[in-house]
Amino acid sequence: MQIEAKNISFRYSDNQPWILQDVSLKIEEGERVGLIGPSGYGKSTLVKIMSGYLRPTKGEVLLDGKPLPKKGVSPVQLIYQHPEKAINPRWKMKKVLQESGMFREEVMEALGIEKDWLERYPRELSGGELQRFCVARSLFSGTHFLFADEMSTMLDVITQAQIWNLMLKEVEERRLGLLMVTHNAELAKKICTRTINLAEINKREDI
Ligand code: ADP
Ligand code: ADP
Repeated sequence: MQIEAKNISFRYSDNQPWILQDVSLKIEEGERVGLIGPSGYGKSTLVKIMSGYLRPTKGEVLLDGKPLPKKGVSPVQLIYQHPEKAINPRWKMKKVLQESGMFREEVMEALGIEKDWLERYPRELSGGELQRFCVARSLFSGTHFLFADEMSTMLDVITQAQIWNLMLKEVEERRLGLLMVTHNAELAKKICTRTINLAEINKREDI
């Protein structure tokens, strides 16, 4: 599979400035891509567009040449820095996971998710605990692409490393495509097969 952002331009509304102009990029399954670039250049906006959470103002996102499906479990999963916004507040965590697909005990254990957390509502968990559920849900979904946007800012250093190691193991075993937004060029170098600098592909006039 391949995901392609094709000539994407974006602004949040008609009277706001363009955030992205004529941005194109392709990611193949099995590739691990780092997305870097100065703050405010549109990295988060681009990954939201490429995972279907925002519609591009111009251009399109194609999965094997076809538009992203609107329904069902998405073949592109986004994990971002606000896990509390990504989870239905009215569902117990058990239901959040059941709705996501294939439950896997060993992933739960590796992520340090405790059994009694399953009986809780999102508001009864910390940001770091919720983020583990977001990662588990994405991995259970049978996704082809995993996008991570500064997902570890909520987590302490040890947990960050634990979660990244597990994710990378899954990414490699299942040959998922990974797109990670990061400010950490060292991390990107360690994990990624290539790095894209948004400053170089965003044709916005002011940058
Ligand atoms: P990056 O991830 O590279 O830091 P972002 O995609 O978060 O960049 O933001 C790009 C620009 O879009 C910034 O100028 C930001 O202020 C603006 N922006 C982000 N979200 C919104 C929003 N909901 N409405 C209006 N402007 C926004
Ligand atoms: P920002 O990071 O600019 O503040 P938000 O966090 O408000 O933007 O994101 C906008 C909306 O996108 C959220 O309210 C949320 O509903 C949706 N969203 C983004 N990522 C996900 C995700 N992984 N799962 C579910 N919803 C998401």
